Amino acid sequence: MPGFPSRAAAGLFMSLLYMNQTNTFHPSQRVLLGPGPSDVPARVLQAMAAPTLGHLDPEYLKLMDETRAMLRSVFRTENELTLAMSGTGSAGMETVAVNLVEPGDAAIVCINGVFGTRMKDVMERCGARVHAIEVPWGETIPAEKVAELLKAVPEAKVFTIVHAETSTGAHQPLEEISRLVHDAGALLIVDAVTSLGGLPVEVDGWGVDACFSGTQKCLSCPPGLSPVTFSSRALARMDARKTKVQSWYLDLSMIRNYWGADRLYHHTAPINMTYALREALAMVLEEGLENRIARHCRNHLALRAGLEAIGLKFIPQHSLTTLNAIHAPEGVDEAAVRHRLLHDYGIEIGAGLGPFKGKALRIGLMGSSSSRRNVTLVLAALEEILGRSGATTAAAAAYGS
Ligand SMILES: *Cc1c(COP(=O)(O)O)cnc(C)c1O
Repeated sequence: MPGFPSRAAAGLFMSLLYMNQTNTFHPSQRVLLGPGPSDVPARVLQAMAAPTLGHLDPEYLKLMDETRAMLRSVFRTENELTLAMSGTGSAGMETVAVNLVEPGDAAIVCINGVFGTRMKDVMERCGARVHAIEVPWGETIPAEKVAELLKAVPEAKVFTIVHAETSTGAHQPLEEISRLVHDAGALLIVDAVTSLGGLPVEVDGWGVDACFSGTQKCLSCPPGLSPVTFSSRALARMDARKTKVQSWYLDLSMIRNYWGADRLYHHTAPINMTYALREALAMVLEEGLENRIARHCRNHLALRAGLEAIGLKFIPQHSLTTLNAIHAPEGVDEAAVRHRLLHDYGIEIGAGLGPFKGKALRIGLMGSSSSRRNVTLVLAALEEILGRSGATTAAAAAYGS
């Protein structure tokens, strides 16, 4: 290197240059009120820092069994085939698709936002002949449309629907649709990524055949695992397959043997992530599912009262309690609002997607993030940024104080 007096000096220069990259990473402490991830309690993060065990260590196998039992409680199911797939919520989506669909099968896919659209793509990649039920973003799927299409496509093998459409905040009722789907002889697949642990998800009660979720939304665990559960009807469908599951990694016919009594190695489990999930599930069960659902409801209503008090309007008619999608106020740059929330207050919220790009704000109140403290904080920050007042007063009134 010309200009340097010696190799030693050049070496010192290079090590100074790389120092920033080899130092520990110190992320800022945020308040995560976006569409996921949500805030992770210290207890869950600490669980991840425990010593890594081998994936066949008896202690780890015991932890897997405990985790499955807890997942059954949270999914409200007795389904034997209940486990956590390696990967985020989308891995759960692909798992149900690749295991339940064979090339040429007819599938009905409901689309009212990003995640129904994604499911259609996934189904098509499995070779399904997809028939879509589409309604405008922000709306829910009406039972009449479901009945109509089931009649038109009597050969439909699977029917997919998003319980909590995170891209629009729409909350989809499922009970009547479940009845229609079963009467038509199809399997009901439900995306519960933004509802599990925050809204009622009654896998057995509603007759859901395959359900998947993610760890980083209402379970308040870091992203990385995808809880899934399959009914005996779904299991029978898998056992009757004529073709191999197209994905080696997500093939439940093999993964079942690792989570089951055989303990056959398939792929190395994300050990420390499972510690985190177990801890997060313990927190759900300690709080009690019903109390947790009530907390999400209470904080949503207070946030709603506050947002409406400053003139902000909700997008969906039937809103989730875990995700609040509102129209960006007239004449306000929504990106600038999000930027100020993050930089001045450390609060992350989400932007609009698809037809709502640049036109919506999405405030998640998921898991640990759903708290009275966060509701008041985000409302006060919005009052300041938008130059309006009354939101925190309305929220306080909604809490009954
Ligand atoms: C977040 C989300 C997903 C995808 O989950 P990832 O963890 O991002 O892979 C799927 N469906 C819904 C409804 C979601 O909110």
